[in-house]
Amino acid sequence: MTRKPHVRKVYWNAPTMTWWERAYLFEILRGLLITGGVFLRNMGKWMTGRKGALTTYYPEETRADYAAGNRGKHILTQRPDGRPQCIACNMCATVCPAKVIEIDAAFDAGDLAHPKYPSRFEIDYSRCIFCGLCIEACPEDAIRMVKETPALPSGNRDHMWLNLTELINWHPQSDVAKPYPPRDAVGSTHPQRDAMAMPGGRRDEAASPYAVPAAAGKTGPAP
Ligand code: SF4
Ligand code: SF4
Repeated sequence: MTRKPHVRKVYWNAPTMTWWERAYLFEILRGLLITGGVFLRNMGKWMTGRKGALTTYYPEETRADYAAGNRGKHILTQRPDGRPQCIACNMCATVCPAKVIEIDAAFDAGDLAHPKYPSRFEIDYSRCIFCGLCIEACPEDAIRMVKETPALPSGNRDHMWLNLTELINWHPQSDVAKPYPPRDAVGSTHPQRDAMAMPGGRRDEAASPYAVPAAAGKTGPAP
């Protein structure tokens, strides 16, 4: 049996490499010196309380320099009476490449103009890739993304879901395209929102006509 002759592989950059680079070990040491130097410099800044370390200690620290075009949070828009503008058509859930939107549709025979509404609307932020396709697909301008970021980091993926109440009650300051109903207006003309109001500006989800049944809970993947 004849053995195949050994042919040494020639890499694309071999002709331009110096003998120092060909020796390999020196370049490994140079890389370790660069990364070690950056690590020690940032560690020193952190230990002495100086600003300038390259990392942000998220979520304890929040970056102030997000780009103006950053879109890190979904909201569901409301009708003037406080109900969601969403008609539970499922187009956003269908187009979502990460399959992180879950919607249950319900029927309200008393609302002839918009009989279909979401009884459950949840987004799993642990898997959302913030591509914005759900916004593009929505025919009702019922879901939007704004530049704030949700305070959701957690060691448990089940805690990284936002439900219908959280998505609709979140009034961003950065989305000025649409006037939202006033949150705490005295003598509000929004009886449904008033019925859900709780001290501290929060809403009683159980009192909402769009509340998620307690038994259903959040349905995220196991941590
Ligand atoms: S931003 Fe993209 S990944 Fe996130 S929910 Fe919308 S379509 Fe899905
Ligand atoms: S948010 Fe828009 S696309 Fe998604 S179910 Fe509601 S109406 Fe349809």
